[in-house]
This record gives sequence, C-alpha cells and structure tokens, in this order.
Amino acid sequence: MQKASLQWRRSGKRVVLVPTMGALHEGHAALIRRAKQLGDRVVVSSYVNPTQFNQNKDYRRYPKRPSQDAKIAKAAGADVLFRPAQLYAPDASTWVVEMDQSKGRCGKHRPNHFRGVATVVTKLFGILQPDVAVFGEKDLQQCEVVERLARDLFLPIRVVRHPTVREKDGLAMSSRNLRLNPHQRELAGFWALSVRAAARKGAAGARAHLKKLLRRLKGVRLEYVEVTGGYLCAAAWVGPVRLIDNRKCGMK
Ligand code: AMP
Repeated sequence: MQKASLQWRRSGKRVVLVPTMGALHEGHAALIRRAKQLGDRVVVSSYVNPTQFNQNKDYRRYPKRPSQDAKIAKAAGADVLFRPAQLYAPDASTWVVEMDQSKGRCGKHRPNHFRGVATVVTKLFGILQPDVAVFGEKDLQQCEVVERLARDLFLPIRVVRHPTVREKDGLAMSSRNLRLNPHQRELAGFWALSVRAAARKGAAGARAHLKKLLRRLKGVRLEYVEVTGGYLCAAAWVGPVRLIDNRKCGMK
C-alpha cells in the first residue's frame, strides 16, 4: 500500500485518505464522495483498531461486513479499500498521545481512547502519506485531536471535516446503530431530537435543557453533556450501544 501511494504521489497524483473501521454506511459514503473531489486517488482504510476500544466485548462485537463495504466504497468512488490485517507488531511500543483536545468529553469517559485513535491515524498517515485526510464531524472531538496532532507534528496533511450525515429521524448514522433493536432504535431517534432541541436553546441553556429532556426519556442513559466551542456535545447509552452526537448551539 505504501509503495502504491508513494508511486501515485511521485506521478503528481493527490492522495486522499478516508480512515474507517468498516461496516460502511451512507455517512462513510459521503466522506468518500467528498474525498473524490479533493484529490486524484481515494484510499478508504478499514481497520477495527483494538487500541481505541475500552471494552473487549465492544471490540469483538464491532460489526463486520466486508463484501458490502467493498460495494459501498467502490460506488462512492474509492480507488482502494485498504484492509490491513494488523497494524501493531507484537512488540509495538510507540504511542502518539495528544494531551489537550483529548481531555474531557469522550476522553474522560473512554480512558486511552484518543491515544488509540491518534496512534492508528499516525500509522495510516505514515503508510499512505496522503495529501488530504477526511474525517466526520459526527466524531467532533476526534477531528479536534487529529487536527492538533497533524499541526503539532508538522505533518504535511490537510485534515478536512465533513458534516454529520443523519437518518431521516435525525439520528447520526453509525455502524453501532446496527446493534439496536427496534425499540432501542426508536429511543435513539428521540435522543437525537433532544440533542437538536437542546442546542437550539443556545449555549447558555443547552446543557440543562438536554438533561431535563432526557430525564423523561426512560431507556436513554446520559453519559455526559458539555458545551464547548459553541457546540453541544453529548453521549448516552441506549441498551448496549453508546451514542454520541453534537450540534452547533443556537442553530434553528
Ligand atoms: P468509523 O468507521 O465509525 O470509525 O468512522 C470513520 C469515519 O467516518 C470517521 O471520520 C467518522 O467521523 C466518519 N463518520 C462516521 N459516521 C458518520 C456520519 N454519520 N456522518 C459523518 N461522518 C461519519
């Protein structure tokens, strides 16, 4: 993969990377289509990164749909679906730790999650040496961490954010949504509506309003809610699935 990518770059092609953990959906497809506009060769990586999971069960149960992934990636315009078997040598001992943007929100509730993310993204950047990498705003804190690491390490890579792609009822698309039963899926829709309604209250009132709305929504267990950088950011559990979402405050 590295040889192919360096060859493309030497021949003047712009390489764009879209890192994913597979089980691709329309949200990923939107990122791939965007990537296509930003360069000449689009590589979609699909790797379920063990070091960013907090629970072994969540890692083992992470959905895998390789043949469907190939179809979705190709239809959206990917040139390569890169599925490395392993990105960690048995004696791998190097970590990339971002120490500011990783604090709080998901970083507080998922110890070492962003260390895993920063490390695997740096490995992928090392393999592909892309001109551009596209990340989804659904994982807003991840965007912030990756932008900071690219800046701090002087990586000549443009990090592009793509807006969150949602289902009809407003739920942010996610591979983990596949694990919701019909009742939980309905609750997840109400969760998404609550986040939107709370954000509309504006930065000052959003946090309290979301807490109030979710107290009435039995079956949705709020993990955190914070307003940061003008965004309402929150995470909650519905059954076995952890949902995250963010909305710009004050938007209609
Ligand atoms: P994942 O496979 O969930 O790790 O996601 C891979 C990339 O796709 C990340 O940059 C995510 O932020 C992005 N992504 C996942 N779901 C969505 C979505 N619903 N809308 C926009 N981007 C997304």
